Amino acid sequence: MAAAAGLAGEDGSTRPTIFAEMSALAAATGAANLGQGFPDEDGPEWIREAAVDALRSGENQYPPRRGSAALRAAIAGHQLRNYGISLDPETEVLVTVGATEALTAALLALAGPGDEVVTLEPFYDSHAAAIAMAGATHVTVPLVPADGGFALDRAALDAAVGPATRLILVNTPHNPTGAVLARDELASIAAAAARADAIVVTDEVYEHLTFDGAEHVPFATLPGMRDRTITISSSGKTFSLTGWKIGWASGPAHLIEAITAIKQFLTYSGGAPFQSAIARALTEGDDDIVALKNTLNRRRELLLDSLTRVGFRTVRPQGTYFVCADATPFLTAGVPDGAAFARWLPGEIGVACVPLAAFCREGSESAGRLRNWVRFTFVKDDATLATAIERLAALRPTRAIDGG
Ligand SMILES: *Cc1c(COP(=O)(O)O)cnc(C)c1O
Repeated sequence: MAAAAGLAGEDGSTRPTIFAEMSALAAATGAANLGQGFPDEDGPEWIREAAVDALRSGENQYPPRRGSAALRAAIAGHQLRNYGISLDPETEVLVTVGATEALTAALLALAGPGDEVVTLEPFYDSHAAAIAMAGATHVTVPLVPADGGFALDRAALDAAVGPATRLILVNTPHNPTGAVLARDELASIAAAAARADAIVVTDEVYEHLTFDGAEHVPFATLPGMRDRTITISSSGKTFSLTGWKIGWASGPAHLIEAITAIKQFLTYSGGAPFQSAIARALTEGDDDIVALKNTLNRRRELLLDSLTRVGFRTVRPQGTYFVCADATPFLTAGVPDGAAFARWLPGEIGVACVPLAAFCREGSESAGRLRNWVRFTFVKDDATLATAIERLAALRPTRAIDGG
């Protein structure tokens, strides 16, 4: 029952998530959907052709449960080339059905009832669900909006991590805030993990989507952390191929072994032809990553400019493809907070977004602080983004942020 309650919607039901609700509303009102955060343009054609080749050449049966040898080698090569992390592809790499399966299998393998799992807040929805499935207790540390970006509340981190902490779940670049955690913030988390002898699971699916020269620091590269860190990533966001669900986990062999034991009975394995194609993408696709990043950077500027111009307070994201904005200037007695604003906006001007409260625990400090905030995505084609920007220009502030 406890786990079921943790998996239920915001109001305790199991109805569709806020993301599905907002997308349905966007469709019903013909709104430009800047709510649900996945690309509306497919990834590079040569990578898709590589999957077609794999299908035609007979890669249609179960791949090995740890993933194809070619993909595991490509993942190890990617970590070494980009970050200097050396991995044994035989024992330290596991291919999964998206980062989502890696996260869930890791939580089920490494935490259970009586264990505390610490995450940042706001947090990606599947993190909370996986903790609930494992029957563990979810403890959060706020990321606080500041001029230079969302910042880690270090006092809260020190208070949150203790003897009951089994696992710390990091996410950088961070969804929904767009924060790229700085090396010194990660060092604080590393110190807390060492003190509590906790395992760190780090969700780095936006590792390549950073801007303004922000450096993505993989958690496993921090001094002393390699042996206690499981790194999770995915090809979905990096190559705009979210529907393929090819993800992976890497880390010390004994932890990967424990996660593999769970994964065996979640899905065993999946996506044979896509594994082949992603093995090639990870070795030959660096130019495509740069091209995506440049396109997204241009769209980020357009969206930020439009939101600030019309009167939102925004935090400039250094990574991911989301902009968080304080909607306080547009709130009224009838539209009193970010959730109400997100439900009102599609019908009013034809643009959809999602409230940040949906990424917070009900009643938490973060939920209060971010009550009026919403998230817009810029991973949309130029036409959709232009339509959204034109429509946003019709908004008129009703009050000032400080007075509100
Ligand atoms: C999209 C996303 C995932 C899920 O990745 P898949 O590979 O599609 O399962 C995990 N974590 C974060 C933070 C995400 O934004």
